[in-house]
Amino acid sequence: MVPFDNIDKDILDFLSVNLPKIIPFPVKTYFSLPIPSNTYNPERNQYLSLPLLDILNKLKIPDSFKVLGITNVDLYTHGLNFIFGQAKLKGKEALVSIARLDNSFYGLPKNQEILYIRTLKESIHELGHTLGLPHCPNPECVMCFSNSISDTDRKSYNFCPICKLSLSYLF
Ligand SMILES: [Zn+2]
Ligand SMILES: [Zn+2]
Repeated sequence: MVPFDNIDKDILDFLSVNLPKIIPFPVKTYFSLPIPSNTYNPERNQYLSLPLLDILNKLKIPDSFKVLGITNVDLYTHGLNFIFGQAKLKGKEALVSIARLDNSFYGLPKNQEILYIRTLKESIHELGHTLGLPHCPNPECVMCFSNSISDTDRKSYNFCPICKLSLSYLF
């Protein structure tokens, strides 16, 4: 995991403990990286995701199988109003933004437990793409596309039986 700027250590600890329960690889936390100011779009008050994925792709971390970037800033990519995250299909790099996973974004009271579970779901989703999984039509599968926070809340943090089978073939 690579935190961009200051990420709450409790979220990183939660992911370190829980990611390996679904994707059985040990997790290490890299030191935090600054977000380049040229990825900021003042008209949208958002950050462009692709240059951040590019930074993750170019990092030389010994023995790293996949690299998951975590950021607090709101992300967008061309053609979409916002994204919860992005990853390279069958690639190394994945990125998740917790900005819209936090209840406070929607004017609701903060709820750390909900934030952690949502971050876990979106992290597994993006890592699933790096493992070669496309989007899944099963609304309860972690690989189902989230268009809104209610989609994220509806799905589980686990792969459905069909995605599990696909993963077993991919390995
Ligand atoms: Zn996706
Ligand atoms: Zn599935």
